[in-house]
Amino acid sequence: MNYNKKSVRDVELKGKKVLCRCDFNVPVKEGVITSDVRITAALPVLRYMLEQGAAVIACSHLGKPKGEVKPALSMKIVAKRLGELLGKPVKIAESLDPVSDEALALAKSLQPGEIMLLENLRFDKGEEKNDPTFAKKLADMADLYVSDAFGTVHRAHASTAGVADYLPAVCGFLIEKELGTMGKALADPARPFVAILGGAKVSDKLNVINNLLEKVDTLIIGGGMAYTFLAAKGYGVGKSLLDSEKIDYCKDMMKKAEQKGVKLLLPVDTVVAKSFPDPIDAPIDVKTVASDAICDECMGLDIGEKTRELFADAAKTAKTVVWNGPMGVFENPTLANGTVAVAQALADSDAITIVGGGDSAAACEQLGFADKITHISTGGGASLEFLEGKELPGIACLLDK
Ligand code: ADP
Ligand code: MG
Repeated sequence: MNYNKKSVRDVELKGKKVLCRCDFNVPVKEGVITSDVRITAALPVLRYMLEQGAAVIACSHLGKPKGEVKPALSMKIVAKRLGELLGKPVKIAESLDPVSDEALALAKSLQPGEIMLLENLRFDKGEEKNDPTFAKKLADMADLYVSDAFGTVHRAHASTAGVADYLPAVCGFLIEKELGTMGKALADPARPFVAILGGAKVSDKLNVINNLLEKVDTLIIGGGMAYTFLAAKGYGVGKSLLDSEKIDYCKDMMKKAEQKGVKLLLPVDTVVAKSFPDPIDAPIDVKTVASDAICDECMGLDIGEKTRELFADAAKTAKTVVWNGPMGVFENPTLANGTVAVAQALADSDAITIVGGGDSAAACEQLGFADKITHISTGGGASLEFLEGKELPGIACLLDK
């Protein structure tokens, strides 16, 4: 896959109408945006385009409306916040249909230096289906397409890939940076190259292991991912997270690792409790047991102390480390030690360190380690697929340099 793609810096913007796919999928609680990090992240490229004399039609999805209009997921609150941050009004149509006549008319009348936001793209069934009619409607509003939502580039949706069939397509500053740092680090990684996987999206993430084993020297598995591997080793995992359909797959992966000479590190000890904390940060009684001694009524919720050392040592001696997914239920202070240890090891390491995944990135920020990490990717699933070397539709559709 070619990572050398044209960006907004490589094209004429003056007098152009630009359709800019942003990632404004912000957390919202009771109608209030609880973190505007993603909006703030988009400001530099939006300002740049506006200053260069473009008229910007920004667009994004918000939440999971699944092709139906859900007023609670309207982009109006994003338009308001974006306007406050940019210091200029962000126009948005009243209609909740992202490609309503009203929205099209607004786009048509937009002047250089002005910006508007379309309604939630996923209110239209055509978005996630990559329906060419919907893509064409979006494309018809503009002269140029700028892709800057890295979190969705692994999906071929109308606004992330489909529109590029009708418009010249370049990336914005965020994707430019992802390609520059991650692309460079992964094209010819400094070795040893260590990948650390954890988190709870077990089924999704187990699938990437097959490809990762082709690339890395050491693969570390922690978090909720680990128990399916422990089960594949014949250990009892009690009530821990388990994808029972993937046990044979994990056996194959252990064999593959051995054949390839890849070191596969699994937890040697585990922090267990009788049940999942509820609420998630509630005080909890835990004990640490060896990974082959998890009792039937126990649930593994973090890596133990010996495992922390094992994983941290591997990370510290690496030259490239990629980390995706926390090592335990880090939202609970009693169960955060594994995640803190890995974050600390990355922070202390001289290696090129790359963190992907919403929760892993949040853990680094929370712990104050973010500025000691080489690159925190803005995409979770996308960064994993990137790492696997898969062709990402939202990157492949951009113009080569
Ligand atoms: P990311 O967002 O970094 O890609 P995921 O979304 O896959 O990571 O997983 C993050 C979640 O995994 C966190 O909410 C954390 O509490 C949970 N988790 C980690 N370890 C375990 C475990 N052993 N059992 C259950 N949940 C876990
Ligand atoms: Mg997550």
